[in-house]
Parts: sequence; C-alpha cells; structure tokens
Amino acid sequence: MTIEGIESDQGETLLGEFDVIIIGAGPAGLSAGIYASRAGLDCVVLEKGVAGGQVLTSPNIENYPGFPEIQGMKLMELMAEHARRYVEIKEGEEVLRVRSGDKFEVITVSGRYTSRALILATGAQHRRLEVPGEDGMTGKGVSYCATCDGFFYKGKKVVVVGGGNTALTDALHLNSIGCEVSIIHRRNALRADRHLQESVAKRKIPIMYDAVIDEIVGTDSVVSVKLRHLKTGVHETMPVDGVFVAVGEVPASQIASELGLDMDPGGFVITDKSYRTSVPFVYGCGDVAGGIRQIVAAVHGGAAAALSCFEDLMNPYYKRS
Ligand code: NAP
Repeated sequence: MTIEGIESDQGETLLGEFDVIIIGAGPAGLSAGIYASRAGLDCVVLEKGVAGGQVLTSPNIENYPGFPEIQGMKLMELMAEHARRYVEIKEGEEVLRVRSGDKFEVITVSGRYTSRALILATGAQHRRLEVPGEDGMTGKGVSYCATCDGFFYKGKKVVVVGGGNTALTDALHLNSIGCEVSIIHRRNALRADRHLQESVAKRKIPIMYDAVIDEIVGTDSVVSVKLRHLKTGVHETMPVDGVFVAVGEVPASQIASELGLDMDPGGFVITDKSYRTSVPFVYGCGDVAGGIRQIVAAVHGGAAAALSCFEDLMNPYYKRS
C-alpha cells in the first residue's frame, strides 16, 4: 500500500509503505522485484540512476542463456521492461540513508519510504587503473570483464593487469580462447590462489612483475600500453590490442555499513546461501554480496533473496526462541 504526503519529524515526506524495498535496479534488483512481487509482496525498486546497472556498459554479451548475442543495454532494457510488469522501478531515486527501527525507513532525494524488509542490490564498480587513456579506450580495447569481452580478442595480443584470483582466472580464460596474453602485476608476488598460479605457470603465461601501466594509447582502438618497471625505473612501450583490468571491485556498500551488516575485508556484504545478511529482514544480492560477478549469478541472487524475504515475512523465524 502506498501512502503519500505525510511528513516525518525530520520533514521528509512519506512516499510509500511497502513489505520490501529493493535498492538497486541491476540484474539482481530487477530479478528480486519480479520474484518478490510475484510472491505477493508489496514492493518497489529504488534506483539512483537508470535501471540496468553495470551491464549497461557491456557492448556485447554472449554468455547469458537464451541470448546468444545481445548488447548489454538491450538485455537490461528487456529485463527492466519485464520487471515493470510487476513492480514499480523508481529511477533517479538515490537513497541517501536508511534508518532501522520497528520498520526500515529509506530516505531518498525525494522523500521517505518505509518497509518491513530490505533487499540490497546496490552493486559494485570495477576498480579502475586511473591512468591516461583508460576512460577514452573503455569499450575500445579496455575491458573489465574477460568472460564478457575476451572472445573478441581471439588471436590478438592482450594484457591482464592485476595479481589476484580474477586476474589469473581472466588470463587463463583468454589463453584458452586463443589470445596471446601476458599478466602485468605491480608487485613481485601474486595474491591469487596457488592452484591458479600453478595453472598459469603450466600454460606458460608470461608474468611481468613489478610493472605498472602509466598510459593506455590509442584513438579508435588500443594500440599499446606505456609500461614502467618499478625496480629499474625503465619505461617501455608494449604493443597490445586489449587491456583487461582486473584490479578488484569496489562494492557500493554504504547503506550496508549504515545498517551495521557484517562485511568482509573488501567491503562486500556477507550473506548466507539464502542471501540473508547478519541483520534480520535485510538481504544482499548481486555484486554487493561478492561471489561470481556474472549476470546469471546476480539474477539468481535476486530471486533467492526475494524468496527468503517472502519466507521470513510470512513466517518470521527470527522471532522464534
Ligand atoms: P583482489 O584479490 O583484490 O586483487 C586485486 C589485484 O589487483 C591485486 O593483485 C592488487 O595488487 C592489484 N591492484 C589493486 N589495485 C591496483 C592498481 N591500482 N594498479 C595495479 N594493480 C592493482 O581482487 P580480485 O582478484 O578481483 O578478487 C576479488 C575476490 O574475488 C577475491 O576474494 C577472490 O578470491 C575472489 N575471486 C575468486 C576466484 C576464484 O576462486 N576462481 C576468481 C575471481 C575472484 P596487490 O596484490 O599488490 O594488492
């Protein structure tokens, strides 16, 4: 039920009362909206920008079942259109803060909403290298997702930047699809798991240690990277067709931290396998909850979080002794 126009003590206008408020309209939030609404919950999706999330920036997606090849923007348009059959998606409705008490109070740029439960699907952003050329070449040779874009670089020369599990997994993926791939890492030791390091060694994927990219060069597409060897100070230009940046993710976990949710050292929300967080009636799904950062995984997380939310609201086991 939606009640409009009532002001709180703090002067925020009440814009709606819901069973569950879903924050974020990427694949996880949209999927949560479809499942929550179809389970009979009164819900709304609040999105600070436009529906679609990070996927909007993927030029082409070839690994979402049912769509052998589709632009990220198109896929998200379809997903949002599907979700709108069931749930209102309020775009441009940035959440400023969340208060918890008898009910959750969600304060946005427009006013105040209340709910019995919250599903956080606020996403994450790829950490960027912050070097010249990176912004302009994104989508033209700079990619943050080898699984999504690697196939376009078959037979081409690419570098992966980073020394974690993502970087090594990406390098193995690129190697296995036929790219000439090497890894550039800023330190002299990898933080990736040993089994990944062993696989990279077995595949003879070259690793350039103690090296950083100072610039990504290209106009219509990437042609080279300017490297700096940290131990020697030597500069080098390396011709490449693609740069895969795998230097971690920055989760959008400000709301999670306001709510006091348990988070891992990287700031990702910790959930159980049913996407329940450490705080009753708060669920986390999609990239903000870490794990496999793929659209299929986010869609699964949103659905599972919504179903857990439904179960808890119908039969609140949290209150059982
Ligand atoms: P990560 O573990 O945080 O590693 C990020 C890597 O990027 C580190 O090697 C870091 O270098 C480097 N880096 C950070 N900022 C940089 C910068 N500005 N310039 C150059 N290098 C920079 O991130 P991740 O690899 O994405 O992994 C994230 C989480 O997902 C981890 O928990 C990981 O285990 C998990 N994951 C697991 C798998 C798997 O099990 N197969 C696959 C993917 C991801 P330093 O080492 O010097 O800090």
